[in-house]
Amino acid sequence: MRRAIFFDRDGVLNEEVGFLWEVEKFIWVDGAREAIKFCNDNDLLTVVVTNQSGIARGLYTAREVDKIHAFMQRSLAQIGAHIDAFYHCPHHPEFNGECDCRKPKPGMILKACAELGIDPAQSILFGDSKRDIDAAQAAGLRAGIFFTSENNLLDVVKLSVKKFLHVDGKE
Ligand SMILES: [Mg+2]
Ligand SMILES: [Zn+2]
Repeated sequence: MRRAIFFDRDGVLNEEVGFLWEVEKFIWVDGAREAIKFCNDNDLLTVVVTNQSGIARGLYTAREVDKIHAFMQRSLAQIGAHIDAFYHCPHHPEFNGECDCRKPKPGMILKACAELGIDPAQSILFGDSKRDIDAAQAAGLRAGIFFTSENNLLDVVKLSVKKFLHVDGKE
């Protein structure tokens, strides 16, 4: 079983700008790319779990979401880093009824655990809303950690993996 670091996307990896579908509006949070590289270098899977109700609302399509994620991978590749998997929920209850993937539901996290062989009890999540933290708890993760983008994500990830996973990271 692998250990994973789950990241909410908007407000954690990139600055929250409302519904994001244009690559030009994507701004990395300080330390975000370095945090992902740190996980890569320490044998921790990196998994993005993101609610994208803009799809249900008809603001953009799954194709635009894929384009943003491809851009992120290209940008990460410049420092030798990568995200192992992306999961997005395209639903919103007003348009699609209830789904089991929209956070605070744990569906995306549970799917990732099943598909990638992740041990939830040895994995943690970073999110900027209560929904994220509730999803982490519902999925049985070791911890859901509240993060705000005034902080440096690398610093917070390093402290958290040490505290919760006893990983003394190599740089
Ligand atoms: Mg968020
Ligand atoms: Zn969903």
